[in-house]
Amino acid sequence: MTTRYTKEDNPTIFGKILRQEIPSTVVYEDDKVLAFKDIAPQAPTHILIIPKEHFTDLNATTEGDVNLLGYMMTKASEIAKQEGIAESGYRVITNIGADGGQEVPHFHLHILGGHKLGALVGE
Ligand code: AMP
Repeated sequence: MTTRYTKEDNPTIFGKILRQEIPSTVVYEDDKVLAFKDIAPQAPTHILIIPKEHFTDLNATTEGDVNLLGYMMTKASEIAKQEGIAESGYRVITNIGADGGQEVPHFHLHILGGHKLGALVGE
């Protein structure tokens, strides 16, 4: 099921991070997005970018989200440059739902890099 919450009632862990109820290591912030270090990094550099506006996942998006989605992809490349992994290469991933391995139901992009990444899809 897809949902949209306001910042105030977003019950996900990322909602708590946005409201600064729990700490995060922020690497970039503006009025539209927040980027912070993943708490359980799966590569030497593992950053999450989240929109400040809540929606569950890619399934919840409509054409009204085109600008925000494009903005987030552009920010992913800027953050990769800032973190020093743009030249060596990196991966941008969004997980969707149970089979996609999504744990946190607030849309986010993973930026992974800092070493040669393994196969895109595990078992
Ligand atoms: P996903 O499985 O695509 O929903 O990814 C959720 C990610 O959020 C995982 O990589 C977690 O390690 C990460 N995560 C969960 N809680 C926190 C937190 N408090 N701070 C930073 N990252 C977190």
